[in-house]
Amino acid sequence: MAGRSVSREPIRTIRSSISSAAVPPLSFPGRPRHDVPIAAAAADDDDDDASACAIIDLRDTKRLFSSIPTPRLVKSIVALRLAGMNWTADFGAWALNPRKMQDPLWRKMVLTATEHTFYHHFCAGKDLSAAAETVERLRRDGLYSMLDYGLESAGDNASCDDNSSEFLKTLDWIQGNPSLPVSFLVVKVTAICPPKILKRVSDLLRWEHKNTAFHLPWKLRTFPLFSHQSPFYHTPTKPRPLDRAEENDLTLAYRRLVRICKRSRESGVPLLIDAEDTSIQPAIDYLAYSAAIENTPKGEEKPVVYNTIQAYLKDSPERLVAAKRGADEMGIPLGFKLVRGAYMSSENRLAAELGVDSPIHDSVENTHSCYNSCAAFLLEEVARGASGFVVLATHNVDSGKLAARKASELGIEKSSERVQFAQLYSMAEALSYGLKNGGFRVSKYIPFGPVEQIIPYLLRRAEENRGLLSSSVLDRHLMSKEVLRRIAGT
Ligand SMILES: Cc1cc2nc3c(=O)[nH]c(=O)nc-3n(C[C@H](O)[C@H](O)[C@H](O)COP(=O)(O)OP(=O)(O)OC[C@H]3O[C@@H](n4cnc5c(N)ncnc54)[C@H](O)[C@@H]3O)c2cc1C
Repeated sequence: MAGRSVSREPIRTIRSSISSAAVPPLSFPGRPRHDVPIAAAAADDDDDDASACAIIDLRDTKRLFSSIPTPRLVKSIVALRLAGMNWTADFGAWALNPRKMQDPLWRKMVLTATEHTFYHHFCAGKDLSAAAETVERLRRDGLYSMLDYGLESAGDNASCDDNSSEFLKTLDWIQGNPSLPVSFLVVKVTAICPPKILKRVSDLLRWEHKNTAFHLPWKLRTFPLFSHQSPFYHTPTKPRPLDRAEENDLTLAYRRLVRICKRSRESGVPLLIDAEDTSIQPAIDYLAYSAAIENTPKGEEKPVVYNTIQAYLKDSPERLVAAKRGADEMGIPLGFKLVRGAYMSSENRLAAELGVDSPIHDSVENTHSCYNSCAAFLLEEVARGASGFVVLATHNVDSGKLAARKASELGIEKSSERVQFAQLYSMAEALSYGLKNGGFRVSKYIPFGPVEQIIPYLLRRAEENRGLLSSSVLDRHLMSKEVLRRIAGT
């Protein structure tokens, strides 16, 4: 890819300790702690964490928030406090009920209230020019931006075409503003392919994986999509083949993605493909990998596509290793964004209804350990040579510290574009600024677009900010400490 003012750094090559059979646990002396409130965990770093602390220091709030003016700190504390209240998510879901929203007066009231509270805090604005101000401000703070035009899902080809045009417009804009440090364009495949097609294609891919004689005439070259632990219960019986209209819809969706990939290569900004729930994820992986294969010229060193792996899924380590090895064999540079996963309740509910094992790890500790192991694998791939590229998307301070320490131990250049951290805009600020101050490359995931369009995103944030263990508790704690320090003038 053309690239946006990023240098190629020396990376020490080491032998990966990973086999394709399993992803071993991290070999850190300090284990992540899951049983203490986050604020306390950050405040009382013990000896175990001393070396990680030397890399990311969250204790010196003066240095941590030096670029954030006091009014912004106070606004953040208030917004995170409101978003973190248990009733906020429940009230939001009630107020935004589609039946209630049909009443024009109610709709206007709710949208105005949302715009002046959460929307302003968690989103960059209604359009690209508003987003540009945020990208510029983050640039001054030393942070990169991932642009996410807040599109959720589209039911028909006309809406998919409209959404595809928005992605292309954003890429044109990025290319026209080369001084702005935009690290990725975020793409939701559900915005350019109707979810009903993603569901049908996922069923057919699952059936083909289980029955090798089953032939899919439309199937393109791709990387491995499943492991033996993948959830196959979504497809209990043989699915009927795609009919002509469905095959046409699939072809159109693929062409949209290919066009977006081509423009992304021209603008030098890779695509970051979001992951969704397991009923449609195989089709998303399939489209992402096939588009990466088609759009990567021979000898290209940088990925055009970063696909997302959700570490809360039991099958994620094996799928990750298989896809990476598949890409290596074909000589295709492929990037990965590693997240824990956002659809836990719906995945667990469906599995319980069907009376099958949940695809999600049985405990949060297993999810944490899976995330850290996958992160270690990907960091080792980066250190091993040219083909490793990873975005560690997390608000979890322990995972951030462990990965930062691992990267340093492996001798990976901290500012390398091959290893990037990412947090959502206006969330996990302490971790973002701590990692940035430690020398790492950090992006904020910035949603923008009309208020109405962003509402599903805001509801997910309200859900995520609930509870004492959310990362917003740590942010509020550290920001309050800094505001008090500034008032005291110490
Ligand atoms: C930049 C960015 C991009 C993202 N993109 C995506 C995406 O494309 N797709 C997506 O699904 N999510 C995405 N997310 C959301 C992400 O998956 C998490 O929901 C969120 O960030 C919280 O996880 P965390 O790593 O910050 O850790 P924490 O807040 O420490 O962990 C919370 C997570 O642990 C898991 N968990 C909690 N309880 C249990 C339990 N009992 N058993 C098993 N697991 C449990 C859940 O995944 C939960 O979200 C993204 C997040 C960021 C920051």
